[in-house]
Amino acid sequence: MARLIDVEAPTTLSGYEAFVHLAPAVRELREAAQRLAPALAGRTLWMVSSTAQGGGVAEMLPTMIGLLNELGVTTRWFVIETERPEFFVLTKRIHNLIHGAGEPVLTAADRELFESVSAANAEALGPMLAHGDVLALHDPQPLGLAPLLRARADVRVLWRCHIGLDEELPQTRTAWDFLRPYADACERVVFSAPEYVPDWLEPRSTIIHPAIDPLGPKNHDLWVHRLTRVMMNSALVHADLGPVLTPRWEHVAGRLMPSGEFGPADANGDIGLLSRPIVTQISRWDRLKGFAPLLDAFALLKRRLDEGDLDDGDPIHRRRIELARLVLAGPDPASIQDDPEAREVVEQLRSAYLALPAAIQDDVALLTLPMASREQNALMVNALQRASSLVVQNSLREGFGLTIVEAMWKQIPVLSNQRACGPRHQIRDGVDGRLARDPEDVHELSTLLDAMLAAHAQREVWGLNAQRRAHADFLVFTQVRRWIELLHELVTDDAAST
Ligand code: UDP
Repeated sequence: MARLIDVEAPTTLSGYEAFVHLAPAVRELREAAQRLAPALAGRTLWMVSSTAQGGGVAEMLPTMIGLLNELGVTTRWFVIETERPEFFVLTKRIHNLIHGAGEPVLTAADRELFESVSAANAEALGPMLAHGDVLALHDPQPLGLAPLLRARADVRVLWRCHIGLDEELPQTRTAWDFLRPYADACERVVFSAPEYVPDWLEPRSTIIHPAIDPLGPKNHDLWVHRLTRVMMNSALVHADLGPVLTPRWEHVAGRLMPSGEFGPADANGDIGLLSRPIVTQISRWDRLKGFAPLLDAFALLKRRLDEGDLDDGDPIHRRRIELARLVLAGPDPASIQDDPEAREVVEQLRSAYLALPAAIQDDVALLTLPMASREQNALMVNALQRASSLVVQNSLREGFGLTIVEAMWKQIPVLSNQRACGPRHQIRDGVDGRLARDPEDVHELSTLLDAMLAAHAQREVWGLNAQRRAHADFLVFTQVRRWIELLHELVTDDAAST
């Protein structure tokens, strides 16, 4: 049944403070906690989610829980479980409906299933709760616990919804109608963007952006030797470069070859990550991530160069576009066997790649990153982002793109678009990078790629602005501070009402 998760905090506050550029943010967080945390003394904050592994919530919670505990907010992590796998099929359907996908139907039997699994988990968690504790339910899966536990123990309940769509559709209405009785039992709800909050929840809503851990393996600094070593160990650069300290990893990056097969990423010549201008998109293999139009736009950029359709008065810029390579990377398909859509997307990209002229194929690296070790996977993502002149997130829809923040933090300018809601909040067009009007307008994208690569002094400014913004708004310190403020508000309401 359900279980408590022992959290091993990856980094302590003083671990962060040791880095001169992080110390001011930690100081601010400590000050806020000193002011606000005493009001929370004697209460436990219970983070409740549906998995301890995989997905953004599970990735972020250990860091957050570690910091909250260190700052004096007693926090524990409870994961709901069930022996009825159909429960997770149902919650996946609800998840998709909130994103506007799927048949807009949820039945009385679905409700019965949702409520019976919620009741069993409420039975397990209920006896552990004490008067005044705070429950933070993450995403729709554990939301059914809200009315049950609120009625049984004197606890405050908030809901952290990490998903949303900036449009009302029959699908979203169906999902919200289903979830409303449970969300209504929550005193506060937290979303990632104001556009995602259904009207009836608005008066109780707060916006907190997702955040990254600047010292996690995906984002910590990689000085030049470490970066090179990660790339050599993972086959992202050719082993001929010279000897390295650590052996090649058991699971290395794969690259699609002109034969149509995947081989080790260094099997067919070097990608040029350490020397060429690199344009990168790293995402799950999801149609909505916009890989296909990005590949078309990059191929068009190369064709336009050949056809003299780019402003190539500057020979250095001409050379830059000649040398530029596109990296499209995502998780190894072997690790996503149960995800037919991902396989379909990889297949579609494979066909598009095979249809390209040989010279352009050379300039496109379709990479699969093994997931066997989360840490090695994260280091590969880190290294690829750091080796990029531009990071693209060409999503047709995006709640909040963590890959965007990861690039911003690394001072890499980002190209995304105005149609996706998350990127609109993350990137200020012309300040931190650029936003295309339409992620499916291949000509516009190729023009923007050309313009961003040409603007090399401006790229530095975009990168610096992006890093400053990531530092201010999208690091874990801001996120934890916002949580403590929210908890303080909840508890202050509590005091007022008793
Ligand atoms: N990611 C990863 N390995 C991969 C591909 C993606 O670790 O092979 C990570 C990526 O770095 C980011 C997350 O998966 O941290 C994706 O989050 P995002 O918000 O960009 O999109 P989502 O997948 O949640 O729609």
